[in-house]
Amino acid sequence: MMSEPLPIATGARQDKPNLLGMSMQELELFLQTLGEKPFRARQLMKWIHHQGVVDFDAMSNISKVLRQRLKQLAVIELPEVVHQHSSADGTRKWAVRVHGGSLVETVLIPEGQRATLCVSSQIGCSLDCSFCSTGKQGYQRDLSAAEIVAQLWLANHSLGVYREGGSRVITNVVMMGMGEPLLNFDNVVTAANLMMDDFGYGLSKRRVTLSTSGVVPALERLIGKTDVSLAISLHAANDTLRNELVPINRKYPISELLRATRLYMDHLPDRSRVVVFEYTLIKGVNDLDQHAHELAALLRGIPCKINLIPFNPFPQSDYKRPSAARVDRFKRILQQDGYIVTVRSTRGDDIDAACGQLVGKVQDRTRRNERYRARLRPDEALVKVIN
Ligand code: SAH
Ligand code: SF4
Repeated sequence: MMSEPLPIATGARQDKPNLLGMSMQELELFLQTLGEKPFRARQLMKWIHHQGVVDFDAMSNISKVLRQRLKQLAVIELPEVVHQHSSADGTRKWAVRVHGGSLVETVLIPEGQRATLCVSSQIGCSLDCSFCSTGKQGYQRDLSAAEIVAQLWLANHSLGVYREGGSRVITNVVMMGMGEPLLNFDNVVTAANLMMDDFGYGLSKRRVTLSTSGVVPALERLIGKTDVSLAISLHAANDTLRNELVPINRKYPISELLRATRLYMDHLPDRSRVVVFEYTLIKGVNDLDQHAHELAALLRGIPCKINLIPFNPFPQSDYKRPSAARVDRFKRILQQDGYIVTVRSTRGDDIDAACGQLVGKVQDRTRRNERYRARLRPDEALVKVIN
C-alpha cells in the first residue's frame, strides 16, 4: 500500500458547521436552510466520503454560487496528521492533532483479506479500568462526529483509496481505540451510521463494531438509533472480580449488562447477528481454569463469540500477560463448551499500537496516575465518573 502525501489541515474556523461529521439527515436540513434540494446532500456526501474531496471548488457538479455559499457558511475540516508509523507486521498507526492540541491515535490492522481500523471516540477515558492505559490518562474531552469520521477519511487518504481507481482497503472499523464510545453517545452514533451509510463509507453493519465496557442506560438507548455490531468488554464472569477490573460494574453489574445486551441484539432486524464478548486475560487475576468455566456458564444461551485479549503491558501497570500455554488452555475450555473463541494476536508491538497502549506516552493531565499508584480504591474514581 502506498502512502499519499499528508493532507494539510484546512485551518478552518470552528464556529462554522463541519460537513465531514454530518449525517445525511443533518446535511439535508442544513441545505434546506440555504433553500437547496435534498439531493444536494447526497452529492456532497459522495464528494467528501467517496471521493475524498474536501475543497468545495473541486465539486464540479455543484453550482459556483452554491459552492461560494458553502465556503462562507461551512467547512470540511480534518485534523492534522502529525505522524504515522508502520510496524514490521503491517500494522499502521496515525496520530492526529485535534482542536486543543491533544493527539488521537488510529490503528490499522491488516489480517488476511481483512483490514480493521481501530478508531478512538474520546480523548482519554473517565472509566479507569484497572488494566487500561487510556484510563490512567483520565478524561479530556469527547471527539466530535467529524473527528471520529476523520480517522477513517485520513486512513483512506493515506492508503491511497481516494486516488483515481483506488479500491476499498479498510474492510472493518472497531471503536476500540481511546475512550468509551457510549459516553459520547450522539457523536458516536452519527459517526457509526455514517460509516455504514451507502453515501458515507458503505461498510456492512457486521463490520462496524462499537465496543463498550457496559454503560447500560446508553446501551439501551442505542436501540432503534443504529444497528452497529456490539462488543462487550466483560473481562470477568462475577461481579466481585469485575468490580475490581471494570469499576463501572459497581453501578451496572453483569446481570444488568447482559440483559441490556440481549435487548439490543433482539431488536436488530437481522437475527443472525452475534455479540462479541471481549475478555482481557491477566496473569493470575482472571485467567485460571475456574474463570473459564465460570465464563462458559455465564454466557450459555447467548448467541456470541468470545475474543480473548492477552493483556498488553504498559509502564504504569503491575499486571502481567499470561503465557501462550495458559491462553490456549483458557481458550480450549471455552471451545469444549461450544463457544467460538478467537485470540487477538498482539500486533504492532514495535509501534505501541496494541490495545490499551494508544497514546501511551500522552501526559497524564488528571493526576489519576498518581492516585492509581497510591492504590486508591477504584470506586473513589468512579464517583467522579458517574456523577
Ligand atoms: N472503552 C471501550 C473501548 C475501548 S477499549 C471498552 O472498554 O470496550 C478496547 C478494548 O481494549 C477493550 O476490550 C479493553 O478492555 C481492551 N484493553 C484495554 N486495555 C488493555 C490492555 N492493556 N491489554 C489488553 N486489552 C486492553
Ligand atoms: Fe475506558 Fe475502555 Fe479503557 Fe475502560 S478499557 S478505561 S472503558 S477505554
